[in-house]
Amino acid sequence: MSTEQFHFDVSGIRVDVIRKDIRNIHLAVYPPTGRVRLSSPLSIKTESLRLFVISKLGWIKRHIRNMNTQIREPELEYIQGESHWVQGHRYLMNIVEVDAAPKVVLRNKTWMDLYVRPDSSLAKREEVVKEWYRDLLKEQIPGLIAKWEEKLNVSIEDWGVKLMKTKWGSCNIEERRIWLNLELAKKPIHCLDYVVLHEMLHLKERHHNTRFYELLDTFYPAWRNVREELNEVVY
Ligand SMILES: [Zn+2]
Repeated sequence: MSTEQFHFDVSGIRVDVIRKDIRNIHLAVYPPTGRVRLSSPLSIKTESLRLFVISKLGWIKRHIRNMNTQIREPELEYIQGESHWVQGHRYLMNIVEVDAAPKVVLRNKTWMDLYVRPDSSLAKREEVVKEWYRDLLKEQIPGLIAKWEEKLNVSIEDWGVKLMKTKWGSCNIEERRIWLNLELAKKPIHCLDYVVLHEMLHLKERHHNTRFYELLDTFYPAWRNVREELNEVVY
């Protein structure tokens, strides 16, 4: 399969282009620097790609801007007033120091109250929040799996949640087990729904081939939008 890589500039923004054997144009803005990448079918001319990018400039700039505001805190510090995302909504962290078991409580659609013991370490605070995210996902995943088991007429043996660096989910076809990325707790719930479906679809079709994408089109017609959302929004 032939591929071709090059780049061009639009309004001072560098766009990395890869032409390859695909059917649609994909545009993404990647963290942490806001790198703009365009994947294109082989047949589309450079000038058309340039026009396409120009038509999306507002969208691109918005994403770069969001990235700059959110990624400027490259590591979360779990301190007062810090932004934390829960299923697509931004909450501000409010630290409540108490001598009791730690917990997380969302309040007034605004605050993420983090109850911890006085002088708790960053590592401890992080652990409390991550466990809370994990519990949140574990409440929601069984219902989504049951829904897709019925619609797809497949069944899975087991599932789990873990932190993954490079993907949103994975499927072990032989064991009939799916893994879901803990970070999905920060995304809108339809993103979780899509990833559950995607991984379970691998029980019907192992590879990302035409049949796989046809199945996705059938069961989740808007899946491309969700995939973009997963790639683009920064947390
Ligand atoms: Zn896949």
